[in-house]
Amino acid sequence: MRILYVEDEKFLADAVKHNLEKQGFDVDHAADGEDGLDKAVRDIYDCVVLDIMLPKLSGIEILKRMREKKVNTPVIMLSALSEVEDKIQGLDAGADDYLAKPFKTAELVARINALLRRPANIKEEIYAFGDIKFDAVQKTLNGVSLTAKEASIIHELIKANGRLIQKEYLLNKIWGEEAFGEDNYIEVYMSRIRKTMRELGLKTKIKTSRGLGYKLVEG
Ligand code: CA
Repeated sequence: MRILYVEDEKFLADAVKHNLEKQGFDVDHAADGEDGLDKAVRDIYDCVVLDIMLPKLSGIEILKRMREKKVNTPVIMLSALSEVEDKIQGLDAGADDYLAKPFKTAELVARINALLRRPANIKEEIYAFGDIKFDAVQKTLNGVSLTAKEASIIHELIKANGRLIQKEYLLNKIWGEEAFGEDNYIEVYMSRIRKTMRELGLKTKIKTSRGLGYKLVEG
């Protein structure tokens, strides 16, 4: 699980980052609003934790711009002022949850987990991009069953919503330790997925940016 944590108070940021990492999260920290927005839009995270009062760009502004750019990563807003006003503004701008400062890391971890956990009784989870329809629960691409790894790849690509995914990111996320820098794993799976997409007559393509990664492109 990869978290982006945007917080300007260094002491707090260090402590929370340390505690989240102890809980097994992979944490990127940004100390101001511009850096936070840049990371949120450029990289791929499972969750973004946004302080509201930040230098350069407020948390609310970051969230608005993320949503404008169709970055749909779940966001938890933090605010030093436990004012109703902040909470309403944050939720209006598209935040998924809100936590008032001061908070215990355990509370933040519980909120992150609640946000990322799929409800147990969910039967389908449909993602769409171009003419692709992917069901993350049934692991089907426009009705055709995929293997677990193929499904994980499509899942990451479709979550990225047309943005480039670094090859290393995919390798780490899907193969982890197994990968050992074996880049061709991905190529093999990509060609299988592309074959399935061709057979389905889909116009959406997986584009390779040489040496960089992959992205979905609408046909
Ligand atoms: Ca702050």
